[in-house]
Amino acid sequence: MFETQPKASHFVGGAYMEDRDGEIIDVIYPATGEIIARVHEATPAVQEAAIAAAEAAQVQWAALSGTERGRILRRAADIMRDRNHELSQLETFDTGKPYQETSVADATSGADSLEYFGGLAASLTGEHIQLGEDWVYTRREPLGVCVGIGAWNYPTQIACWKAAPALACGNASIFKPSEETPLCALKVAEILVEAGLPPGLMNVIQGRGAVGASLIRDPRVDKVSLTGSVPTGRKVYAAAAEGIKHVTMELGGKSPLVIFDDANLEDAVGGAILANFYSSGQVCSNGTRVFVQKGLREAFVARLAERLKGVVMGDPQDPSVNFGPLVSARQMDIVQGFVAQGVKEGARLVCGGDRIDQPGFWMRPAVFDNVTDDMTIARDEIFGPVLSVLEFEDEADVIARANATEFGLAAGVFTRDISRAHRVIAQLKAGSCFINSYNDAPVEAPFGGSKQSGVGRENSKAAIEHYSQLKSVYVRMGAVEAPF
Ligand code: NAD
Repeated sequence: MFETQPKASHFVGGAYMEDRDGEIIDVIYPATGEIIARVHEATPAVQEAAIAAAEAAQVQWAALSGTERGRILRRAADIMRDRNHELSQLETFDTGKPYQETSVADATSGADSLEYFGGLAASLTGEHIQLGEDWVYTRREPLGVCVGIGAWNYPTQIACWKAAPALACGNASIFKPSEETPLCALKVAEILVEAGLPPGLMNVIQGRGAVGASLIRDPRVDKVSLTGSVPTGRKVYAAAAEGIKHVTMELGGKSPLVIFDDANLEDAVGGAILANFYSSGQVCSNGTRVFVQKGLREAFVARLAERLKGVVMGDPQDPSVNFGPLVSARQMDIVQGFVAQGVKEGARLVCGGDRIDQPGFWMRPAVFDNVTDDMTIARDEIFGPVLSVLEFEDEADVIARANATEFGLAAGVFTRDISRAHRVIAQLKAGSCFINSYNDAPVEAPFGGSKQSGVGRENSKAAIEHYSQLKSVYVRMGAVEAPF
């Protein structure tokens, strides 16, 4: 029997910690609706312990060489890979995502992040600026205590994407997982400590939004990185602004996927499937507005409906299952509401969209055709398996329509014309873009949004800018000339 109940609710100061005074959060397995664990929200005492532990540990951690810090992160990456099977099972219990996905996209992605930033830690340097005889040198210094706040769709990955660059730069990390998925981040903290991370540098505390809000208010916290929705982003950004704190905002999207009629049909359909139905559509960068050029639209919709017959639902722990439930009853209600709205506003439901009458939060992936730009399903982030096909005629028209949104997280183009591919991508207002592909997120590439989809970048060398700051030191070599 797989143990889903963690040893305790929180991980603080290098060990599990409990405080039963905190309100209970039930952890529900989305595939069955059953309660599989219970954790307590972090009380003010737990929050204080986490912040104090982080603050106390950070100074010595920053004093180590980058090579020493990196070695620990890389060791943690190896442990994560060795335990990929059990970590993937836990991720599946936490989120409901099928093991077929979690075994290749979660602990593995977290391990990539630890390995990448572990490798980068030793090469973080300042620069030397010669000014005649005098000179300036810069020191790349950590920010201090960094708070990460996670969404529920990728609990292991989000914890690692925030902790790895923070730790590599010499910061301490406090992570608050989403209340929907509290289990996985605890394992990340446990593994980092097993790899040799000194106590206090990776803390995980549970709670709903109020716990996150209270962490941000604390003057000892220097930075907050949020993965969540735009409305939450507004609140967190404003709270960080009160204390003039550093922020990274990884928020929502309504990304366009543009398919020209010269595209390879199978690849374009495959791309649209990856852009809409992976993780049951609960991916921030999903290309949910699928603009298909007039000449290809009918064939595209027919082939897409055909390929959706390959969806296999069932026990998400079974490796042959390729489509899981939604994360919660609440998310199911939200997504079902959008499907009903789509029908009401006149879009044609080609297939799916219906709730499956069984325990857990199951629905069939939905494809809507004849969607127009003004429909609710083409404007709002749904965060579920609902794909909208919108027809377009020419390039200039589709670029304008694709950009007509307050979001700017991702965008994709399918075409065999390489000049057009680059020309179109250059004009799409989005942070993470794809040509003849969709939703790849290698750690080596910057990830993040423009417009209301976010501020800052995760992954890649770009993340270093968001977890460190420069100190300039002017060095005068000669006499000081003062006016009196
Ligand atoms: P959410 O905004 O409801 O919650 C995100 C996190 O913020 C949770 O941990 C929540 O407890 C916390 N929170 C809520 N109110 C808060 C407050 N006032 N102060 C501090 N913390 C607070 O998002 P969700 O429903 O968990 O996740 C879905 C959303 O996340 C979608 O919009 C999706 O697009 C987005 N997302 C973005 C990315 C990205 O990298 N850009 C990745 C995954 C998900």
